[in-house]
This record gives sequence, C-alpha cells and structure tokens, in this order.
Amino acid sequence: MSSTCPLLVVGSVAIDAIKTPFGERDRSLGGSGLHFSVSASFFTEVGVVAVIGDDFTAEDESVFHERKINISNLERIPGGKTFRWAGEYGFDLNTAKTLDTQLNVFADFKPKLSEAAKKTPFLFLGNIQPTLQREVREQVDCKFVAMDTMNLWIEIAREELLKTIAVVDAMIINDAEARELAGESNLIKAARKIIGWGPKMLVVKRGEYGAAFFTKDSYFAIPAYPLESVFDPTGAGDSFAGGFMGYLAQSDKIDDATVRRAIIYGSTMASYNVEEFSCDRLRRLTPQEIRDRFHQFKEFTHFEI
Ligand code: AMP
Repeated sequence: MSSTCPLLVVGSVAIDAIKTPFGERDRSLGGSGLHFSVSASFFTEVGVVAVIGDDFTAEDESVFHERKINISNLERIPGGKTFRWAGEYGFDLNTAKTLDTQLNVFADFKPKLSEAAKKTPFLFLGNIQPTLQREVREQVDCKFVAMDTMNLWIEIAREELLKTIAVVDAMIINDAEARELAGESNLIKAARKIIGWGPKMLVVKRGEYGAAFFTKDSYFAIPAYPLESVFDPTGAGDSFAGGFMGYLAQSDKIDDATVRRAIIYGSTMASYNVEEFSCDRLRRLTPQEIRDRFHQFKEFTHFEI
C-alpha cells in the first residue's frame, strides 16, 4: 500500500517484558508506534514508521493487519533484533520503572519515508530518540505535528529534544515529564515554559487523575474514566495520543471544540488500554464501546450554572 494516510506515526515497535502487581508477561507486544497506531486505527487510516528485527514474527505482525494499519514504512532488518523494553510498576501505576532498554535495530535506524508518507497531513512523533523524531518531521510536509517524549531523553538528550520541541505544534507528555523537562514543580508554570519553547498546545496526561490542556491563553481539564481495575498501564500514554491524533485527523480540523473532543477520545482509548496486558483489550474493542465511554465522560463532567 503506498497511498497517503491522513495520519502517520514514528515510534518504537517493541517486545516488552512487563511486571505489574497483578501479573507479569515476559513477551508482550509494545512500543510507542504500535500502541499509538492500534488506538488511532479506530478513527482513521494510520501509517507507522519504525524498524523491527527477525524476532518480530508474522503472528506479532498480524496486529497491524487486523487493524488495517499501513506498514509500508515499517522496515525489517534481516538478522536484527527488535527494540526491547522491560518495565515494572508498583501499586502507584502512574510511574513505570525501566529495568532494561535495548535499542537494537533502532540504534542505526535512518528513516527514509515513501513519497506518499511525505504528504501526510497529521504527524505524531512517538516516544523515541529526539533526533530520529526530527529526521522524520523534516521529511513530512504536514499541517499538524505533535510529539511525546520520556524521562530518558530529557536526561540524556536534552539539547536534541529542545530542537525537536521547537518544530512541533503540540506536545503530549505526562505530568512528571512536564515538571522534569521544565525544571518546575508547579505544573502551570511548567506548561507556560514549555509553550514558550515553540508548541502552541500542551496536553499533560495525569494518569488516574485525567488530563489537562494548555495553550498560551486557555486551559481545559478532565478527570480520568473511573476504572476499578487497572491491570497494565503500559501504552496508556500512546493510546491516549492515538485517540487524540486519530480523532483530529478524522475531523481534519484543529479548532478548540475539536481539540476538546479529541482529549476525551484520547482518555477513552487509554482507559480501555489499561484493562489488560499490552494492546489485548484494544484488539477486541468495538466502536460502540468507544461511543459509550465518550458519552459517559460528558455525564461525568457536565454541570449547570
Ligand atoms: P507508555 O504509553 O508511555 O506507557 O509507553 C509504553 C511503551 O514505550 C512500551 O511499550 C515500550 O516499549 C516503549 N518504550 C519504553 N522506553 C522507550 C524508549 N526509550 N524508546 C522508545 N520506546 C520506549
């Protein structure tokens, strides 16, 4: 398939090892690009820019085919090993402790996009080295680009990260990352600082406390969907971003009302993602289930003056 999709993501496609207080799995499909694209595929056609090795089996790859995700820019390196991440969560499921990161095929990855991919209107730079994010951003003639990052890159590649932040329209990160990146414990001050570096919008994911949205002169916040059992939070952030960007790309608009709905769709997708290991729950999700939670969010947050 070489047609232009409305949405493109660059990010990791990974084999994870996950430990939560409720169970563990030593081979779990993961990666920012994978979680993002599975979530976004409920809203629009999405393409993935990433790299995998031989150990990513045909059965693993079926996750992309099931959801009709465009993998014409997913490179397979013969003899290479797929990116691996091992993480653990304590009872505070908001923060993952990284036990191991092996870049493997990502260490030498030089993304070369197809001509069709270069015309994608909506682009998401998923969590991956900031230099790679920028190499992809520079190749795409898009109308809206958003990015994620993580503590690792804030700590070891800050200068490169700031260069990438300067060339995006929106940043979608969690509250701990926003505070660390800005060097500010107050989230409002941290948001103001980050917006001063280039992005017009900042979405701060706050785990079980919901999400907040900042621009230079507006603010919007929502609670998280009230779930009784969170099983595996891995991929919650990417599923959020997938719902957010998927809805924007489907609407082909970025006005305030559309962005607010996109935040609700992002939260809806994240709430389903955390119910089971990996993207298992999203693989069984139906459009009706998405509509149900979307409408419940309106009930939870609506009040009369
Ligand atoms: P999150 O949505 O923030 O929970 O992201 C989870 C995914 O991020 C996991 O499936 C990991 O494979 C992936 N990941 C963790 N560390 C890195 C990293 N340094 N670079 C790229 N992807 C990562």
